[in-house]
Amino acid sequence: MSTSGPANDIAGAFLTIDLDAIAANWRQLQGRTAPAECGAVVKANAYGLGIEHVAPVLWDAGCRTFFVAHIHEGIQLREILPEAGITVLNGLIPGTAPVFLEHKLTPTLNSLDEISNWARLGRMRSGLAGWIHVDTGMSRLGLDEHEAKTLIAEPDRLTGLSPVGLMTHLACADMPDHPTNELQRQAFNSYRQALPMCRTSFANSSGLFLGNEFTSDVSRPGVALYGVNPTAEKTNPMRQVVELHGKILQVRQIDTPRPVGYGSAFEAPEGSVLATVAVGYADGFLRALSGAAVGFIDGMEVPMVGRVSMDTIIFDITAVPERHRKVGQLIELIGPNQPLDAIAGRAGTIGYEILTSLGERYHRHYRTSDSQ
Ligand SMILES: *Cc1c(COP(=O)(O)O)cnc(C)c1O
Repeated sequence: MSTSGPANDIAGAFLTIDLDAIAANWRQLQGRTAPAECGAVVKANAYGLGIEHVAPVLWDAGCRTFFVAHIHEGIQLREILPEAGITVLNGLIPGTAPVFLEHKLTPTLNSLDEISNWARLGRMRSGLAGWIHVDTGMSRLGLDEHEAKTLIAEPDRLTGLSPVGLMTHLACADMPDHPTNELQRQAFNSYRQALPMCRTSFANSSGLFLGNEFTSDVSRPGVALYGVNPTAEKTNPMRQVVELHGKILQVRQIDTPRPVGYGSAFEAPEGSVLATVAVGYADGFLRALSGAAVGFIDGMEVPMVGRVSMDTIIFDITAVPERHRKVGQLIELIGPNQPLDAIAGRAGTIGYEILTSLGERYHRHYRTSDSQ
């Protein structure tokens, strides 16, 4: 990567986001769902990667249906993509209907109350789009069994909703053998047979790899677009999107054994060489990585030592050649040697959390084929 130029000189760490890879990932998932439609989940600022950069790239790739969690995320996305279908997953919070109308947002309807409020407005117009969310095994959002039964018995409640959709969300899609997947599939199938007027939306990223029985009219992948492996134990079929490099701020020779970092949690042995790098937990480099992280210098693995501080981490770089043991040298923290899923595993978490924690202090570089 290029690290010259004034912005690069003052930066302590570099986050590179490959927009072409995001587009390629969407096209790959679209290929899995065709002829059905592949949407894109861009909640939480496109999983931390910057919705103002990511959404136009997905639109240009052919994506027309987008999902966000919060209403304000929908409002922001409407400014970026005036023509897109935008669905707000958190539902129709009481009092917010005028905001949905003003910004042409589609609510997910998570209860009979939300359905009745939105359908009433729809009947006063020429119909309003809405996605009915049925809970089939997560106990999180959506109509429970009793509410779904009432809806099936009284389908007139849907009058005014046009087009009307039916969605559910998988709890265990990343565990292909988990029995909940099949139970949710059966429950969703019975609902869609009972409400045949509805378009359907079922699979998230991992759901798209569970088999044809999990397809629907509109799929809702998120994390796989951004490079996280949706296939659990198998080789990651997605292209990597994110690279993170931290800059060495200071190099220290250890002449006699010395404690390192907060809590003196590590003692550096005599003869070791330490490098302090400008990345910390305030940048989303999780403190849980203390004692567990590694970095890479020119492809060589170097262990992080001591605890993660707010602004810095310390690596033992004794083993790397002298020419790399210098201020300004970059250490790869996420990249070809350590993909998102690998660092997530070391932190005891999932790629989702690494992505959505990526800090605001990084020098962000958005890469496309036109701008290497
Ligand atoms: C976040 C979310 C998704 C996307 O899930 P991924 O696992 O990131 O693909 C889809 N549907 C709902 C309801 C969600 O909350």
